[in-house]
Order: sequence, then C-alpha cells, then structure tokens
Amino acid sequence: MRQAVKLLIALFLVAPLSYAKISLNQKELHYIKSHTFKCVATGTWEPFNVTSDGKLVGIAVDYWKLIKKRLGLKTNCLVVDNFNEVLEDIKSGDADLNFATGTTPDRERYAVFSKPYVSFPIVIATSNSVGFISDMSLIKDKTIAVGKNYTSDILLKKNYPNMHIVEVKNVDEALKLVSEGKAFAAIDILPVIAYNINKYSFTDLKISGNTPWNFDIRIMVRKDMKNLLPLLNRAIDSIESSKKEQIFQKWLSVKYKNNRDKKIIITLLVILLLVTGWVLHLTREIKKRKVLESELERLATMDKLTSIYNRYKLDISLDEQVEIVKRYERDLSIIFFDIDFFKDINDRYGHKVGDEVLKELTQFISNLLRKSDIFGRWGGEEFLIILPETSKKEATMLAEKLRNAIEHYDFKHIDRLTCSFGVTSFKKGDTSEKIISRVDKKLYSAKQSGRNRVESE
Ligand code: GH3
Ligand code: MG
Ligand code: MG
Repeated sequence: MRQAVKLLIALFLVAPLSYAKISLNQKELHYIKSHTFKCVATGTWEPFNVTSDGKLVGIAVDYWKLIKKRLGLKTNCLVVDNFNEVLEDIKSGDADLNFATGTTPDRERYAVFSKPYVSFPIVIATSNSVGFISDMSLIKDKTIAVGKNYTSDILLKKNYPNMHIVEVKNVDEALKLVSEGKAFAAIDILPVIAYNINKYSFTDLKISGNTPWNFDIRIMVRKDMKNLLPLLNRAIDSIESSKKEQIFQKWLSVKYKNNRDKKIIITLLVILLLVTGWVLHLTREIKKRKVLESELERLATMDKLTSIYNRYKLDISLDEQVEIVKRYERDLSIIFFDIDFFKDINDRYGHKVGDEVLKELTQFISNLLRKSDIFGRWGGEEFLIILPETSKKEATMLAEKLRNAIEHYDFKHIDRLTCSFGVTSFKKGDTSEKIISRVDKKLYSAKQSGRNRVESE
C-alpha cells in the first residue's frame, strides 16, 4: 500500500514535469487533448523502427517516444508490413503520421514534414580489401547494390545516371552481394549499414567512405493535420544533444540486442565450456567486433578524407556549447572559413591533388589550434572551428593569424592558397542555427570584399 502511494506521488511529480518541457497555450492544449493521433510504421526498418518481442523499438522509436511525452500526445500506433502501406494509410487518412521518413516531392503532395530530428551520412560499404574511397568518382564505373527505391537509390540514379546499379529488396541483400563479390559496394544510411554489418556478422565488409549526401529523418504528417507540425518542431528543438548522443550510442554501440542474438551467445558459451578450442575463436570474434565498434564510432564523428571532425559531430558539439553558454554565461565564438578559388586548384592540378591540399591544410590548421577547440569539416572546402571560452576579439585575432599563416604556407603540390573567414560569437537569444547563419553571412561578405579576409560580427 505504502509503495502504491509512493508510486502515485512519484507519478504526480514526474508527469507534469515531463509535459512542462514545452509550454503550450490553451488552443494548442485543447488541440492535443481532443485528438488521439494515429501513427503508422513498419517494423522492418532496422535500426530505426523494428519489431522485437512484439514491441516496436529503434532509433526513431526512441525519438518519437521523447517527442510524444514532451507534448503529451495520445497516440495509437499501427505496425504494417511495408513502407508503401504506410504511404497509402497516410494518403487515405487512415493514419495521421509516420515518425521516421524523408521528404520526396511525391510525398509532399499529401503530407507535410517536421524539421529533421536527426541526420545521418549516407555511406559506402565494401569488402575489407578495398581502400579508402575519398570520392564518388572512384566508384562511378562499379556495380553498386542498393535497396530498390530507397533514398540512396533515388540519389544515385539522379546524380550518376551511368552507374551500374543493382536494385535489391533491402540492405542485407545488398551487403550479401558485396560479400559474395557480385557487387563492389552497397550504399545506405550509416546506422542501417552499421547495424546490418553487425547483425549478420559480415566481418569481411567495412565502411569505406562517405557519399556527399545526408539523410534527414523527419516526421511525416498528413496535410489535414498540419496544425500538429509547429508543435512537433518545438518538441524536436527541445531535444538535448546529450539525449541524442544517448540514443546514438544505444543503437550503434551495443551489439547483442535482441533475444535471438542472446541465445546464440549462450549456445556459444556452452560449446566453449566443452571445447576449449572455441575460446580462441570467440576471443577473435569479439576483438573484431570491438574494432568494428570503435571504427564505427570514429566513422560517425570523423571526416574520412581529412581525419578532422565531420558535420555530424560539429552539429552536436555546437548544440552542446550553445547549451553551456546559455546556462553558465560563458564566451563562445566560431570561425567559419572556405578556401578561395578551390575549384581552380582542382581544375589545374586535378582532384587528387585537391584532396591532398585539403588534408595538408587541415593538418596544418589543427596544429595551430588548442586542444579545446573543435575543428571540423562543414562540407567540401568549408570548415568550422568552435572556440569555447573565447571572445569575439580573440576569435578574430585567431582567424587573422590563421589567414596569414595559410597565405604564407608552402604546400607540397601547389604554390599558394588563401582562405576567407567569417567570425562571430554567441549573443543573447542565439540558437545554433542563428549563430551559423550569422557567421555564414560574414564569410560571404569576406568573399564579396575580395577574399583572403576576415569579417566578424
Ligand atoms: P570561392 O572562392 O568562391 O569559394 O571559390 P571556390 O572555387 O572555392 O568555390 P566553389 O564553391 O565554386 O567550388 C568549391 C570547389 O571545391 C568545388 C569542388 O569540386 C571542390 N571540392 C569540394 N570538396 C572537395 C573534395 O573533397 N576534394 C576535392 N579535390 N575538391 C573538393
Ligand atoms: Mg571556396
Ligand atoms: Mg565553398
């Protein structure tokens, strides 16, 4: 009895807190209270939404639970066999929303989309024997396996019409083809590839490179229910980067997740007791998985070509730093820079030399920065440096120092190179988006006013 009372008190205390995260006005509250939202999803999109022991689990499910809880949504979720059914249900109004998908022009005719709550790079998986794939041109004449009509399929067909694409049912079919040597590479979203390489123990496969694309995961809502959209976006904005990191870790680091895998491990352990020879074998397997695990972690946060942080890590770090300065009123500045006339360098010396220059430049810059500075590749030949505990004046001085150092640096394959810089620091009321948009404008004006310059605001 006393336990029950305690539980009731706990519920009473916790429930309003979890709703209080997002403040809703009367109209919004009424809207939410007067609806039971019908969601529809497949249970087959590993590791985003997947049925395990009769329950829907996965990266997207974890995000959806958070969003639902923060808004206090009542929901009713239908699990269907394939994604076409999801689309049909939303089209016909049988369901109101799907919590994990991407936009396409076709879907935009009958549905609206939330802002992305998570974004992952689309990566290239090949056999272990293949070297690092620094550029899509290295695979443009190869046979590539992809899930039919998957986002990667659509992107490849649009951007590389001459590529030899084998369309298969799903990503494990694609990986199988690569493992059997029938395709050179499989392409899909990082967590999907990583999860399937692990699940099916494709120890002969690895992730060898990034495509230029990211996959943004959003909530799709049928058009009639578009009033829900601003609320969903607010809930998405409220998700702390620590929560994102937690979900990411949970689904990308832990390997033995479902019962079937557990059973396999237990059986293996029994055999181990009987046959000592197995010990060696299993140790080796575990080692391989550990290597894969740390490799995945590195891949998820590092840029393949330059070995500095990638966009994903920069996004997360900036959110984190913005949260810190909001709470503790510290200084925070960022430097955004872009190589001047880099296209000309590629045109003159070739793409390979261009790549070498990117590596050399980032190595050189890394050596000029402090350990606490967060330096990453924003995309192409654009870089971001996040400078915790740094004022605008200090950041501008640093940018000027970098600009000058680059201008005088002797590159191995080319003569000289310059970069243009934008600098800004955190202002009251800033979000990550605002601070990035401001620094981007500054970089643009540095380019406009003649390049090889620093502009700050
Ligand atoms: P601007 O001064 O206006 O920045 O001129 P730009 O030529 O640097 O700018 P633009 O944006 O037109 O071209 C950027 C070029 O960077 C085009 C693209 O081929 C090259 N680039 C982007 N990523 C890579 C890469 O990974 N390797 C190589 N070699 N080149 C890259
Ligand atoms: Mg440039
Ligand atoms: Mg550029």
